[in-house]
Formats: sequence, C-alpha cells, structure tokens
Amino acid sequence: MKTIGLLGGMSWESTALYYKQINEEIKKRLGSLHSAKVVIYSVDFDEIEKLQHSGDWDKTAEILSEASKNIQNANADFLLICTNTMHKVAPIIQEKIDIPIVHIADATAKVLQNDGISKVGLLGTAFTMEEDFYKNRITDNFGIDVITPNKEDIKIIHKIIYEELCLGVINDNSRKEYLRIIEDLNSKGAQGIILGCTEICMLIKDEHTNTKLYDTTTIHANEAVNKALEL
Ligand code: GLU
Repeated sequence: MKTIGLLGGMSWESTALYYKQINEEIKKRLGSLHSAKVVIYSVDFDEIEKLQHSGDWDKTAEILSEASKNIQNANADFLLICTNTMHKVAPIIQEKIDIPIVHIADATAKVLQNDGISKVGLLGTAFTMEEDFYKNRITDNFGIDVITPNKEDIKIIHKIIYEELCLGVINDNSRKEYLRIIEDLNSKGAQGIILGCTEICMLIKDEHTNTKLYDTTTIHANEAVNKALEL
C-alpha cells in the first residue's frame, strides 16, 4: 500500500472527513484491521483565509509549498490538497515537490464523465466559482460544461462557507438557500451539481435533493484510496 499525503486544515473540519473516509474505504476494500497509511500536515486556516481575501496568493503558495515539502519528506507517495480553492496554486506547489498532486477537479471530472454528464453546476467559494483554474480544467480536459450561480447567489454560498461551514456550523436556513440555488442550476440544464468545496457535504446530502450530487471530498478521498492500492 502506498502512503497518502494530505495537505489539510483548510478547514480542519473537512480534513477530518478525509481522514475518516479514506480509512473507511480502505477497511471496506481490504477488511479486517487494515487502515490507510497517511501523512497529514494541517495548516492554520486563519492565516491562509486572510491571505486569500487580501489577494496574496503568492504567499499562500509559499506556505503550502513548504508544508508539501514536509509531507514529501515524511515519505508520502503522492499529495492531496484537501480543498478545491487552494488548487488555484496547485501548479506552483507541484513545481516545488517531486511527488504527484492528485488534482481534485480531475478526480471529480472522471466521475462525471463515467456518469455521462455533459453539463454540471458548480458550488464552491467565489474563487472556485468565478475564476478559471477549476472550471476550465473540467471543460478543456474533459469536455464538460460548467455553470455557476448568479452574482448574488455566489456571495451567499461564499459567506456560508467561511462564516459557518469552516467553523463546523450547520444551519437549516443555509441549507434552504443552497437547495434553492441547486434547483436554479438544475432548471438551467445542470444534470448534476459539484459540491466543489470540501465542507459543503456537511450541509447538503443526497437525502436533501433529487439532483445528483458530486461531493468532491468523497470523490477525492476515494481517488486517494485507488492510488494507494494502485488501481
Ligand atoms: N475547503 C474549501 C474548498 O474546498 C474552502 C476553504 C478554502 O478556502 O480552502 O474550497
């Protein structure tokens, strides 16, 4: 079994989910007392969040690159960046390390492609929804159209991520807002919705909607297990 490297803490709420899901998946596939070989480096999200919102992405890349080198030095075979948003700086991090990054958008797009999805809705931080680094990767490399909510709804989704979900707060009214926005994207032709922020799965689950959900936390964790078992 290969050793999985997790660059976490963004937020720690979702990193805990990664750790649990990876181990549950290993147990499901290998049985008995098997568990995953994992190296976790968890950063202080307060520092990262302030740099994100002040636009200092170079500094975030520097911090995450240093953390990733530590993960590599602890003998991880590959790296997962446990947040969709910080894949904005994934190319810079990849230049600084020798082990491969398992890209969250690629893992998700592969699942979408297997399901025959040609148009998908994307929920995530404003950075993920508005900028090109994530959407274009899915459209250009996998031929899948990605649609996003309107400006007002992007603000609502973003605020709930940073002011509630990353703090572990689950609010019924916020769930209603997310479900309304999912319905709207559905009515605009989205055949499924990418939960493109690793905390959204804490708020929105399959039981809340008939729309097909693609939870990036679960997809990314499963892809890590595939890689660890060399499937
Ligand atoms: N975990 C989130 C994501 O998947 C948001 C936190 C962050 O900005 O990294 O995008």
